[in-house]
Amino acid sequence: MARRKYVVGNWKMNGLAAALGEAEAIFAAAREHGTVDVALCPPFTLIGPMIAAAPGAAVGGQDCHSAASGAFTGSVAAPMLRDIGAVLVIVGHSERRDGCGESDADVKAKAEAALSAGLSVILCVGEPRDVRESGRAIDHVLAQVAGSLPATFDPSRLAIAYEPIWAIGTGLVPTIADVAAMHGAIRAKLAEQAGAAAAQDMRILYGGSVNAENAAELLDAGDVDGALVGGASLTAAKFVPIIAAGASL
Ligand code: PEP
Repeated sequence: MARRKYVVGNWKMNGLAAALGEAEAIFAAAREHGTVDVALCPPFTLIGPMIAAAPGAAVGGQDCHSAASGAFTGSVAAPMLRDIGAVLVIVGHSERRDGCGESDADVKAKAEAALSAGLSVILCVGEPRDVRESGRAIDHVLAQVAGSLPATFDPSRLAIAYEPIWAIGTGLVPTIADVAAMHGAIRAKLAEQAGAAAAQDMRILYGGSVNAENAAELLDAGDVDGALVGGASLTAAKFVPIIAAGASL
């Protein structure tokens, strides 16, 4: 089965109601580029309003708790995301692994909770700069995949996002050869853990300073099935060219 390109925006902690017009413009453009799957993950506060503003659009969360409910002040559970109309959630973003101390086991539990709730999952992995410089990036990332992958899953509902931490929000990007090598290694690891057929169906996204200028080359790299985009997903002017780049391939 050919894998459709998947372009996902992570708005992080950005966006007030006034930003909904950008989401409407992004999803309108996405409909014009029907060969690409497009999703936006705004802050929790904008998920409901964004779905109301763009009915039928793929809107998701940026995190969820591993429990379905309980005494976890400030957290949001996967069934709550599903209940409000979200269809996907990002888990294991480096800003949560590092900023909130989330381990591979935590990320695995969150991914399993999200799948059980009926959400699709984007599971993030990626190495810090010192690990890249020491030549251990592939080993580091494959260990994260091994430790974070749910025990069982439908491959059509789980995507991996490779996001080198040193490339997020910095304007730095790995070479195309390094991206292709990492994505190929991740796919081989997925085959080992989940079987060759599942690995063939799963999408592996690249994330880290993707923009209108570099998107086509990154999206065309070996084993790259899409992009997870932070800063350049906040406006239609910056995000739509990335969607268009995916559609052109
Ligand atoms: C991200 O936060 O997932 C990301 C890739 O950010 P940026 O595109 O801004 O580097």
